[in-house]
Amino acid sequence: MPEGWRAGTYRMLTGGRLTEAASGAQATVIDPATEEELARVPDGGKQDAAAAVDAAWAAFPGWRATPAQERAAACTRLADLIMDSQTELGELESRDTGNCIGPMTGDIGASARTLRYFAGLAPELKGVSVPASDWGLHFTVREPYGVVAGIAAFNHPFLFAAAKIAAPLVAGNTVVLKPPPQAPLSTLALAEIAAGVFPPGVLNIVTGEGTELGEALVADRRVSRISLTGSVPTGKAVMRAAADRLADVTLELGGKNPLLVFPDADPEKAARGAIRAMNFAWQGQSCGSTSRVLVHESRRDEFCDHLTRLLAGMRIGSPQDPQTQIGALISRIQYDRVLDYIAIGREEGARLLTGGRRPPGMDKGFYVEPTVFDGVTEDMRIFREEIFGPVMAVTAWNDEDDAVRLANAVDYGLTANLYTNDLPTVLRVVPRLEAGFVWVNGLGEHFLGLPFGGVKQSGLGREEGLEQLLSFTQSKSVSLLTLNP
Ligand code: NAD
Repeated sequence: MPEGWRAGTYRMLTGGRLTEAASGAQATVIDPATEEELARVPDGGKQDAAAAVDAAWAAFPGWRATPAQERAAACTRLADLIMDSQTELGELESRDTGNCIGPMTGDIGASARTLRYFAGLAPELKGVSVPASDWGLHFTVREPYGVVAGIAAFNHPFLFAAAKIAAPLVAGNTVVLKPPPQAPLSTLALAEIAAGVFPPGVLNIVTGEGTELGEALVADRRVSRISLTGSVPTGKAVMRAAADRLADVTLELGGKNPLLVFPDADPEKAARGAIRAMNFAWQGQSCGSTSRVLVHESRRDEFCDHLTRLLAGMRIGSPQDPQTQIGALISRIQYDRVLDYIAIGREEGARLLTGGRRPPGMDKGFYVEPTVFDGVTEDMRIFREEIFGPVMAVTAWNDEDDAVRLANAVDYGLTANLYTNDLPTVLRVVPRLEAGFVWVNGLGEHFLGLPFGGVKQSGLGREEGLEQLLSFTQSKSVSLLTLNP
């Protein structure tokens, strides 16, 4: 008889123990595809945040004294255990998020790779020696911060959980991790999987509805480093709370990312690329989705024809059906928000090319058709604001300077994507784009080792590379001197 998460029982991890919320309260988790109850989970609050930080604080001296290679070995062991349950975790993630099962199973594999990648970087936790004088040795060492709070968004909860724990743990910090309230199940499964892997208190996982738990974590003076993946308003709130004690932050926030189609690009390939880079397998709920297509006027009609034809052929349906290409939005709130933006787009005068509604005949579940607006101008809200749903905005341009200006005309600066085979165009345009990650003829892929993160209001800091590991350390300078000369 299966026990724990496999049997639908979810608990938090605090100080090495699997626990209910201190208050005994539980929250209901909804299946986005059926709108029915999927599970009940602990509904933690302030008390649970404090207990998790107590445990992480107590565990820190022992964990920082553990050799880096041993810390790395524990992360590798966790990766192995994750892979033992990849299929089940992928299915759980798909049910909880409404995202398509194939990519979500892929996320579990990517999570294990992330843990192994940072484990392999452990020898890079090194300092430098500096030839500063002839009467001593001068060098730096890297030291962990202490207790790190990791807070994740709902679109890829398991992948974010792995990404939020791997670098800080390898670097010698202890962690309190908070999954998104809309989709906490896979992270609570991780709590059970990880329970025996690390010494008690090294990794703690707490969950709760609303913002009380997250606010309590970021307000705790013993938390000296915070890593958030979330929206811009949450990023600002977290940074304000952290400023009070100068705690360091990494903020991976929103995006309104441009995909630029140049005159030499094949419009059909560009349309296929635009669909991939919108991440419809998780309904466009992606910080990196290229939700603004800036297409050269000469290619606009062909591009839009291919785009609407290809989208019409995509299968919307049960996220657990391997043939499905578009699943359900995470929640009723997100569903209403996306439909509101579609109404705003119509009111603003944009031309609806396809989609714009719940798919006919699908009465249950938070489903919205893939939607494309053409004739979108830069003053429109659907051009400027992150919708975080399956809605694309097409804007035409005539001149390269205008294309770059439009690309940079929003507060965000996460990713950008160019469709062109003309190298001089690439060399001119890439440096002018205000974005933390630029693909040329790309599909929106991430590559471990290549840092990911935003400029402007898309955030602070970089993840997915060596920079992330080092960002969970502080440098200490040491001078070993003979007596003063
Ligand atoms: P959100 O900001 O509502 O919540 C993110 C997390 O922060 C959740 O765990 C939430 O409970 C917690 N939280 C909310 N208020 C808090 C507070 N005051 N203090 C502490 N914690 C708090 O975001 P969401 O709706 O879950 O996710 C969507 C957003 O995340 C989008 O803007 C998206 O672009 C962004 N995102 C960014 C990246 C990236 O890598 N840049 C990746 C995925 C999602």
